[in-house]
Amino acid sequence: MENGLKILEKLKKEIPQNEYDRYIKSLEFDQSSSRSDILVYNAPNILSAKWIKTKYAKKIAHLYEVESGINAEIIIGIKNNNNHNHNKIIPKRKQTQSESSTLLNPSFTFETFVTGESNELAFNVAKSVALNPGEHYNPLFIYGGVGLGKTHIMQAIGNYRLNENDKVIYNTFEQFMNRYITHIRSNTMDRFREYYRNCDILLIDDIQFISRKEQTQDEFFHTFNELHSLGKQIVITSDRPPKKIAGLVDRLKSRFEWGMLANINPPGLETKIAIIKKKAIMDGIRLDEEVVNYLASNLGINIREIEGTIIRLNAMSNLLRQPITLEFAKNAISDYMSEKKQNITIDDIIEIVSSELNIKPSDIKSKKRAKKIVEARRISIYLARNLTPNSMPQIAVYFGMKDHSAISHTMRKIEEIIAQDENLKVLIEELSNKIETFKSK
Ligand code: ADP
Ligand code: MG
Repeated sequence: MENGLKILEKLKKEIPQNEYDRYIKSLEFDQSSSRSDILVYNAPNILSAKWIKTKYAKKIAHLYEVESGINAEIIIGIKNNNNHNHNKIIPKRKQTQSESSTLLNPSFTFETFVTGESNELAFNVAKSVALNPGEHYNPLFIYGGVGLGKTHIMQAIGNYRLNENDKVIYNTFEQFMNRYITHIRSNTMDRFREYYRNCDILLIDDIQFISRKEQTQDEFFHTFNELHSLGKQIVITSDRPPKKIAGLVDRLKSRFEWGMLANINPPGLETKIAIIKKKAIMDGIRLDEEVVNYLASNLGINIREIEGTIIRLNAMSNLLRQPITLEFAKNAISDYMSEKKQNITIDDIIEIVSSELNIKPSDIKSKKRAKKIVEARRISIYLARNLTPNSMPQIAVYFGMKDHSAISHTMRKIEEIIAQDENLKVLIEELSNKIETFKSK
């Protein structure tokens, strides 16, 4: 995961220099909280954390995935400036020989996978495939929603085969396609074919992105046929079953249905509890029964998010030097869920904005149309929306506006202006910083 910083270097090449300097440059990679499938970065304040999260987190995840083949969760936290030397105690998972060469995540094994009703079928079939590749279930097609363990199970097969000294190829479909395009361009398709056709087992993750990529589908079809006829195992994952992949050509659809279709369903409460316990043990985090139950019943079904929450909880507990009690977990989670770290109120915002911009607080809440006042009002609404947990209707009432659509209109408007006006953007950031420090005193 030294990769975490490398990815920011890649991001630098894809975004405007000023955006990079303003936001990404100040981002710190939190190596000790990160793992190969969860990257933790810290931003200097809430607003830039939010900005980075909405604007760049997906991009960072994408660049990381292209690099590593791992579909990781990106966490943008907030730096704690007066606490540089806290000890984070998340132990590192062992990295085995293979990670960089095959791009398999070494912690995705059958042993680390928790089974329950929702995923048992996929798990058992996958194990059987690992033990007897190319025999009973070829291809194996695993499908299910985001964060339910498809990649984990697929790579568990890969890791197992790797141990048996098989030549394993793991690619996201996107990587397969990129490789194909590169080889087409450089006129080296013979090398492309040699690479894929010499493997013992081919793992293609997230094939749903195949939609309408006709040429790549063609090539994949040939790769598939050749491997299949040689009795080589093929495993595919997707967020939906073959018949629901729009633009998937019929001949591939029918190939996928030749073998075994295994669905992973969202985990039930019991399974969630078991997963949380296992993750806590693996990460060396102590969680009481009541905390585990609370997390299981209050978090969603995306297991990557559940893991992220456990890591976040632990990081906070180390930072604040407090044990993870039920109360602590509740607070931390409600904070995270609303993504509002402090109890900033709209009154606080008006107070700071009016004193900084030299406008009467009552004017901000009035209907006056003077340019300066309109701008201050817009800024206040924008900050209220971003820094407080108030809903749009609540903010509308506060500013005496018609309804929530007036607020969403204002938000769009100011976002448009910010996109053009660097000075306003800087001003808003400074105001936001002031409001945050004002509240933390
Ligand atoms: P998907 O590919 O379906 O989006 P992943 O396989 O990437 O999901 O899983 C997301 C995260 O959740 C991974 O860190 C994975 O290890 C973990 N995970 C998912 N299901 C389980 C499970 N049943 N037991 C343990 N960990 C799981
Ligand atoms: Mg996946």
